[in-house]
Amino acid sequence: MTQNPTDDRLVLTQGNLTQVAADAIVNAANTSLLGGGGVDGAIHRAAGPGLLAECRTLHGCPTGEARITGGYHLPARHVIHTVGPVWQGGHRGERGTLARCYHSVFELVERHGLRSVAFPSISTGAYRFPISEAAPIALREMRAALARLPQLERVTVVLFSAADLDVYRQALATAGVPT
Ligand code: ADP
Repeated sequence: MTQNPTDDRLVLTQGNLTQVAADAIVNAANTSLLGGGGVDGAIHRAAGPGLLAECRTLHGCPTGEARITGGYHLPARHVIHTVGPVWQGGHRGERGTLARCYHSVFELVERHGLRSVAFPSISTGAYRFPISEAAPIALREMRAALARLPQLERVTVVLFSAADLDVYRQALATAGVPT
């Protein structure tokens, strides 16, 4: 586990997001919200069919926005589904859209009074966003939310691989002091 030198409420860890007990875990979903591969598939498998049934009632989610559901059989109380951008070379506003995903998640965190939230690395799997570019965007939005929301006790990034954890650690170390 890596503690942020400037805010010990931000934690980086390697593991499986579906096993994390938090007020909410974040799903890197697709616009249908009806399940998919990667972390989305893992969350639906672990949560059970109740999650898909609730997702069907939401009628999808546009890229950059977020929706909240129950956690069903997950140890997390809620799932916040957000749809990251597909990387298309970086000239289609992908960086801004990724930042908007994190921002949309934290709006729901605020509205629902949640105190802990755990994220995967949104868009850096099947959606091919380069993780070295995604990590500083993710961490910047998390630090901004921590500064804004006193209710937040813990923001965790759960990286699937040791290599991904290293990238986030580097990004955190070079992020400098909060603005
Ligand atoms: P996207 O379509 O947004 O790129 P993916 O699920 O393909 O989403 O990948 C996002 C990240 O989630 C990748 O780094 C992938 O390795 C990671 N991942 C996949 N399964 C899990 C899991 N169970 N827990 C945490 N991270 C996961």
